[in-house]
Amino acid sequence: MAEGLQNIDESLIETNYDEVVDSFDNMNLKPELLRGIYAYGFERPSSIQQRAILPVIEGRDVIAQAQSGTGKTATFSISVLQKIDFSLKQCQALILAPTRELAQQIQKVVVALGDYLEVESHACIGGTVVRDDMMKLKSGVHCVVGTPGRVQDMIQRRALRTDCLKLFVLDEADEMLSRGFKEQIYDIFQLLPGSTQTVLLSATMPQDVLEVTTKFMRDPIRILVKKDELTLEGIKQFYIAVEKEEWKLDTLCDLYETVTITQAVIFCNTRRKVEWLTEQLQSREFTVSAMHGEMEQAGRDVVMKEFRSGSSRVLISTDLLARGIDVQQVSLVINYDLPASKENYIHRIGRGGRFGRKGVAINFVATDDVRMLREIEQFYSTQIDEMPMNVADLI
Ligand code: ADP
Repeated sequence: MAEGLQNIDESLIETNYDEVVDSFDNMNLKPELLRGIYAYGFERPSSIQQRAILPVIEGRDVIAQAQSGTGKTATFSISVLQKIDFSLKQCQALILAPTRELAQQIQKVVVALGDYLEVESHACIGGTVVRDDMMKLKSGVHCVVGTPGRVQDMIQRRALRTDCLKLFVLDEADEMLSRGFKEQIYDIFQLLPGSTQTVLLSATMPQDVLEVTTKFMRDPIRILVKKDELTLEGIKQFYIAVEKEEWKLDTLCDLYETVTITQAVIFCNTRRKVEWLTEQLQSREFTVSAMHGEMEQAGRDVVMKEFRSGSSRVLISTDLLARGIDVQQVSLVINYDLPASKENYIHRIGRGGRFGRKGVAINFVATDDVRMLREIEQFYSTQIDEMPMNVADLI
């Protein structure tokens, strides 16, 4: 939940299903479910939700592949809740996940979205008392979220009845269908009614796993969100040797006019530094916004909105948000601090290769940072030059 919803570039989507529904209102959902969705704080469906919820509701087998954070969990949770007949207290949907934690997390989402439907969902996971599980299942549930071992056990003991099952969901399907789980998943699948509809969700879908799915699925709808690889190509990278940490602030102030020609993101390594730098700049009458992971989601959303709309032009942030920030118009990134890990460098300044926008990155380098700068250059086989005087012309 912590990371928030990732934006997807529409042109990265590949699918054999054309319908796109861009509002929850137009999905013909039960009013109580719609209420649950809005109460949970969702306003609009994410790209994957716009495409995958409807075919699942219509009874199609679906494979949805997209990286984490794109709204897959909510996709199948909403679909499951729509498909359950709540006048029948029998298990109608079975959701499997590879870990207990994930199963519990999914269970929470199902329960929250289904709040007004009074859904009875049970997390059927290892490490809990078997008898409690059996009692809960026998008392009647609409939906089970679980890990394969315990679920199989419950089916075999006939505590979990599958006769009314309509929907079988495999989350993290690549993991579930490759390593140790594969046989177990087959076994469970054999125990389900032949008419059961199958939905698979995964961040990756290796070819062998895709082949396995043909045994499970009938003419599935496939929704694939391709990965947009980050690249440093087309990004001009510079450093400014500031020597001492204390001189970074003045250096930034000198650069400020250049910075505001465009929109810029300034990265610091800690939340405290973000706050400190924001105060320093604001006290010098510079307009800047700030964002870090310890801010409330609502506050972050406001900051991002202002920045996206252009009403704020400079955003100071920590790495935590480097991956989430996808603002088309950002053409300047300043590493006030070099990232603590080399991998984060590309997340801060890299751009989607297929849409290679140009950009400029400026690294502030104190004497202590020189080694890291060289390591980054080597790691990415790239060149970072000293910043020229005419940098403004390059942005
Ligand atoms: P995934 O399963 O692909 O990793 P999740 O379903 O967990 O993604 O969603 C990632 C984050 O985005 C969660 O915090 C979730 O609550 C939020 N989210 C999902 N769908 C929406 C939406 N339509 N609107 C706003 N936030 C959403």
